[in-house]
Amino acid sequence: MGSRILLIEDEPAISASIAYNLRREGHSVTTAADGALGLDLARQEVPDLVILDVMLPRMDGFEVCRNIRQSAAAELRQVPIIVVTARTDEGDRVIGLDLGADDYVVKPFSMRELTARTKALLRRSSPAGKKRGAVTPLASGGIVLDVENRRATRNGRAISLKPREFDLLACLMQAPGRVFSREDLLDRAWGTDFVGDLRTVDVHVRWLREKLEDDPAKPKFIETIRGVGYRIRAER
Ligand code: CA
Repeated sequence: MGSRILLIEDEPAISASIAYNLRREGHSVTTAADGALGLDLARQEVPDLVILDVMLPRMDGFEVCRNIRQSAAAELRQVPIIVVTARTDEGDRVIGLDLGADDYVVKPFSMRELTARTKALLRRSSPAGKKRGAVTPLASGGIVLDVENRRATRNGRAISLKPREFDLLACLMQAPGRVFSREDLLDRAWGTDFVGDLRTVDVHVRWLREKLEDDPAKPKFIETIRGVGYRIRAER
């Protein structure tokens, strides 16, 4: 069941701690302490997942990410990448730039958070996950989610969603009309290991509404069911 994970991180203590935790989960972990070596290893091994620090010697994480996404080998281009970033300008760059990373965690992060994100990404990219995603895209109210390729459109125009916004919307759109509690959404979109505030869900719903609704103050697509949670309005 274990996956092959490439960990590119130059701080020995962080690297050792992440590697230890992932190995305990049954994964095999290769480590690289600089970006250039990490990229070489990624090309040689084509891992199932890459965990990538931003500030690295020889080649920074942005450059490594770009190189992987522009790689000639399709298999490598599609490898899921989690970026590990510091809570600084660097973090803002990671969040603001479309790096081609699938997810990110901000230092200091809990190991539980990282392993939960890892698990979620591996599940999504596993053959079973791909097969599930290969079914018809989710569509409702002019919004179409291509789960397999993680693309979203509204009335035929591409919209840019952050990884967690996408996951949350995909949960809701799997069953239009059904009311999901915020606890349920947190478990489904963030993973049961995620230790977070229920307001995290509200914040992401607000961001989604800003991208999806004609008037975010009077939402017609994602409805609030007071005291319960949220649902996608069922189409008639
Ligand atoms: Ca570093």
